[in-house]
Amino acid sequence: MISYRVPMVPGPTWVPPEVRAAYQVDYGSSDLEEEFFDLYGRVEAQLGQILRTRSRIAIMTGEGMVALWAGLKSCLRPGDRVLAIATGLFGYGIGDMARSVGARVEVVGFDYDSVVDPAVVEEAIVRFRPKMVTMVHCETPSGTLNPVDEVGELVARHGVPLFYVDAVSSAVGSELRTDDWKIDLCLVGSQKCLSCPSDLAILAVSDRAWKTIAEVDYSGYDALLPFRKALEERYFPYTPHWHGIAALEVACRMVLEEGLDATIARHARVAEACRKGVRSLGLELYPRREEYCSPTVTAVRVPERIGWKELDRRLRERGVGVGGSYGPLAGKVFRLGHMGSQARDELVAQTLEALREAVGR
Ligand code: PLP
Repeated sequence: MISYRVPMVPGPTWVPPEVRAAYQVDYGSSDLEEEFFDLYGRVEAQLGQILRTRSRIAIMTGEGMVALWAGLKSCLRPGDRVLAIATGLFGYGIGDMARSVGARVEVVGFDYDSVVDPAVVEEAIVRFRPKMVTMVHCETPSGTLNPVDEVGELVARHGVPLFYVDAVSSAVGSELRTDDWKIDLCLVGSQKCLSCPSDLAILAVSDRAWKTIAEVDYSGYDALLPFRKALEERYFPYTPHWHGIAALEVACRMVLEEGLDATIARHARVAEACRKGVRSLGLELYPRREEYCSPTVTAVRVPERIGWKELDRRLRERGVGVGGSYGPLAGKVFRLGHMGSQARDELVAQTLEALREAVGR
């Protein structure tokens, strides 16, 4: 069984024992017991604090991709216009997903090593008049963080009905203000900065998004509509995942006990130390400018003279697990995931030491 001595994969992250313990309990039926409904209500309130929203939050079984699909399928009808802002694999991918459900998609694309330019987005919004704007906060495969706040302002100013934001690898580890930034669908997975196993999809859904969801009336396993009143009516569309939600309560409690601002500050500090250390080894950050870098994941160019396979082997030999990358960045970029439980100074220090040995500095 693989267990990294120094876990630095950008999700799934290392699951703390307190969170793991919630899986050892033999719970009753989550379809029947008041105790489960109380738990769900408490976790929804915790997530509201963490995502800074008053919106109703759906907690679905699955992981990040379930949230991404649920938000699209529940809000879109064939022919609806979607403006997909893309700066990386997930941003472009969401555009493809929206197209596959029949939407008319225009992509506002940027290079993978850069972030969104709001002026370009504004021109596209005014010209294309989309029903939905989609974007990714942290593009995990390229280690960048996009200015969701600035796009949210544009979306509100130009009256776009729905703003869909993939916050899967940014939530908890970076500033994220769902309501202030006018996000209608804020999408999160359990396995990144919350450091739970990959078994839950979390969606904060605004009132106006719920209205659209009711009009579209999509039905399917990933449909959001049944979650609108599931708690009040004690009726979920499938047996909810008691173990996962109990673990999520522990994870949320850990964040709130540390304090959300303190958690975000810890990520910023650790990320900065990581970038500084990487540069001091003569390695090159992947994002074009340092201010584009995400506080949750650092993407670094693979030294050509070593290659990704060999670098990975040398790091694994030293007990360090890091991520490669995907799509056009496969083999060219590797990533250090200092997110959630892994945003710790000592883990970054150990990773940098192993990296120093691996690149022969
Ligand atoms: N969105 C982003 C930005 C991600 O980084 C990921 C996973 O890496 C996902 C969505 C999909 O999440 P999951 O792998 O939990 O399905």
